[in-house]
Formats: sequence, C-alpha cells, structure tokens
Amino acid sequence: MDKNEVWRSVLERMGSKISRMEFHTWFKKVKIAEISGAAILLACPTEMNKNWLESKYSAVILSNLKAILPEIEKLYFQVDLSLSDAEVAEEVTDIFQPTKNPRKLPNQPNAKVDSELTTRITQKKFKLDNFIVGDGNQFAFAACEAVLQSTVDSKLTPKYNPLFIYGGVGLGKTHLLQGIANDVREKNPELKVIYTTAERFMNEIINAIKSRKTDELRKKYRRVDLFVLDDVQFFEGKEKTQEELFNTFNDLFEFKKQVVFSADRPPSELAGISDRLRSRMGWGLQADVQMPNYETRIAIIREKSQERGLLLSHDVQEFIATNIRTNLREIENILNQIAAEIDINKISPTPQSVGKILRKINPEHDITVSEDGSKLSLARSTDDVITIVSDYFQVPATSLLGTSRKKEIVFPRQISWLLCKDVLKMSYEAIGADFGGKNHTTIMHGIRKIKKLLRTDSTTARHVHALKKDLGVK
Ligand code: ADP
Ligand code: MG
Repeated sequence: MDKNEVWRSVLERMGSKISRMEFHTWFKKVKIAEISGAAILLACPTEMNKNWLESKYSAVILSNLKAILPEIEKLYFQVDLSLSDAEVAEEVTDIFQPTKNPRKLPNQPNAKVDSELTTRITQKKFKLDNFIVGDGNQFAFAACEAVLQSTVDSKLTPKYNPLFIYGGVGLGKTHLLQGIANDVREKNPELKVIYTTAERFMNEIINAIKSRKTDELRKKYRRVDLFVLDDVQFFEGKEKTQEELFNTFNDLFEFKKQVVFSADRPPSELAGISDRLRSRMGWGLQADVQMPNYETRIAIIREKSQERGLLLSHDVQEFIATNIRTNLREIENILNQIAAEIDINKISPTPQSVGKILRKINPEHDITVSEDGSKLSLARSTDDVITIVSDYFQVPATSLLGTSRKKEIVFPRQISWLLCKDVLKMSYEAIGADFGGKNHTTIMHGIRKIKKLLRTDSTTARHVHALKKDLGVK
C-alpha cells in the first residue's frame, strides 16, 4: 500500500467517528509525508491545523493507523504550506459526502465519461447555481451562463470564444470556471469537458514534447467540446510551451470548440506571453470580476454558511462582510474556523470571537466594527475589555478584577481602565464599580499613569495601540 492509500484507509475507518465538518476543517488537506519503520509523519497545511490534530486527534488517528499498519508506534506532525493550495482527490472527499450514492470503485470509471479526458480536480461544490451574482461579477456571470447554454445545446455555435475571465485573487474566477465545467458535464454527460490549470497543462505539454507525442496531445484536445484553462498568467515567460499552446488553441478554435480562460489580468497586460497568443486569448469576450459590494458579500456568507449547515447571527454575518474586503477566499477560512469552534468547543461565534479568528488568520488584519460606522468598537461592556486584555497579556481575567500589586498584573489592569474610559466612555465611578468596587480616585490615578507612559514609553504606546486595534477602534 502506498502512503496515499494508507491515509485513505485511515479516513475511511474514521468516517463514522468524525463529522463531515471536522473532516473538511482538519483532515481534508492532510497527507502522510513519510512512513519509516514504526513512525509516521503527517503533513498539515497550516500550523493551526497541525496543532489541532496533534492535540485533539493524535490518539484516534494512531489507533486507526495501527489497525492498518500494526507496526506503527509513533505519530509525528509537520507543516507543509504547499498543501493548502493542493487539490484534494475526489476519492478522499467522497468518503465524507452526505449523498447516499455508493462510491465508485477506482478502476470502474463512469461508463459515460471518457476517462482519459476527465480530470479529477474540479470541486463538485462549484456550480453556477451557487455563485452569488452582484455588482462586480454580474457581467462575467452572464457570459458564463451564455457559454454554458451554447455548449450544451449542440445546435448553437460557441457564442463567446474564447471567454476570458480576469481579476484579482479570491474573486471567484475558479468558481466560475469549474462551475461551467461541472454544469456542462451535468447537463450533457456526453460532452467531453476538460478543466485544468495552466500549470498542469504546461506539464502535460512538456511531457508530450519530451516524448515526441505532441501530435497525440493535439488530437486529444481536438476531441474536447469544452476546454477550461485556469490561471493562464502562469504561461508568462514560458516561450517553448507557448508555441505548442498556440497550435492547440488554433485547432480548438478551428473545430469550433468552446474555450474558457482565466487570469489575474486582461490578456493585454500579460506581458510575458507572445503577441499572437495574447491576441488569440483576447479574441472573444473579456469579462472581469471585482470585489462585490457589502450586500453581495453578505449573500455569499449566507450561502457558504448554509452549505456547511452553520447558523450565524446577523451580527456575525455583518462583521465578516465588513472585514473581508479584498479576497473572498478568507470567508471560507473563517467559516472553517468557526465551524471547528462550534464543533469542538461548542462556542457560538460572536463578532469578538470572529475578530480573534481574523487576526489569527492574518495578524495584519485591520478590524472594522461596522460598515456604516454606527458602532464604535467591538467591546460593549467591561467584560469584553477584560476578555481582550487578559487574552492579550496572557493574565487571568480574575486577576484584573483583583487587588494584586504585582507589576505584571497592575499594568494590564490599568490599561483595561484606560480602555473602559476611552472606548466605552465609562465614568471613573462606573469603572471602579465594575473592577471589584474600587474607589474612583484609584481608577483616575491608574489611568493618569498609563497616559503619562503613553507619551514617554513606546512599548506602552504599542500595547495600547494594538489593543485598540483588537477592539476595532480607528
Ligand atoms: P479566484 O480563482 O478568483 O482566486 P475562487 O474562485 O477560488 O477565486 O474564489 C474564492 C472563494 O470565494 C471560493 O470559495 C468561491 O466559492 C468564493 N466566491 C467568490 N465569488 C463568489 C460568489 N460570487 N458567490 C459565491 N462564492 C464566491
Ligand atoms: Mg483561482
């Protein structure tokens, strides 16, 4: 058994013990990196993923591994960042599909599908149906629908050929491209559809050149009804493959086969691609995708959380929509983390807890409290301030309320007072009452001390600044 088979068997055995959500959050992208004697090294896509598996799932993974390879005694973990972008084989995701369809056995390809022409890298979840249309992507979506129509209907000739979708990272290009591919396959299983990434396609071309089989490659692609190629900016500077690429495309266009491209820029800006190839790519229709507006982002968050069976309060939906401003992929990351917290710690998400997740994902993240500025900060009460400060300084919340004179407690405590005053606009009396019944002059002196430090000590200034940022104060 090779490493992948071992891991698949482990997941199969665990199928009944872990939920689909746990699988998608923690197991989907994990691989066995090495089997050596009695030890197995598991590679995880992120540090956080590694920590979770190590602390919560080691025992169950090990016992299932032992059932397959009895000699295994030890389990080690490492982070392999390249896994986060890796495609997950359908055999693996199928184990945890909620659908009741019996899983296809390997080597028994669906009779209708030409196995050579099908790639297994599209994610079934990407459909045009679950793509949320709003400003920013309306035009690209309409173009994809038109291409879908003309491809499945044999009476129609390709309408926009090629269709070229472009835009920044995480704005839905891959979703649209895989959506077309999946929908065409579903609506007309007779059609031959290829979705692939420019990188994979390039490797295929290189192999064909090496083994002098470029003719065969071209023949293979000539038989395709729809060819979808993602991220063609990858071809920049790869002169040798561009030549072969150009020939392949010419064939496809000549035979009136539909082609769809995506890139992070319009064809005219793909400087490292030859003029004739560029002009070929820009020949048909070009459509860009941009960051959708707030309302559309809310709709996307709803769609994604429903897909996962997650129930999010309006507050939380709005908070996520406000803070995701450049890359929609972050929505998936956040929902994964939220799902895990609900699943494992049974904590319902709040804007505060999601703010924490955001910073975990990206420490540079600027937190905005509300889209229209109607709320001033994430903290609504002394409790919120205490939670954030105790978390930040890693001191127990109760110690902030107490009377300890230790410097490492007094300093965070006085900073909490300052935040209550500045952010929550509380009076000295009210702060004193909330902090274990202290006299208002104690509070006043404490705050004054921190204010003085703010002018003279850059460390204090940095702490206060960071905490205010955590609280979403501008
Ligand atoms: P790109 O290929 O442009 O980098 P992706 O297609 O991978 O971006 O999109 C990133 C994530 O955002 C995916 O999970 C995708 O489903 C989601 N997404 C982007 N736009 C939409 C949309 N309009 N409706 C639903 N999900 C979207
Ligand atoms: Mg993409």
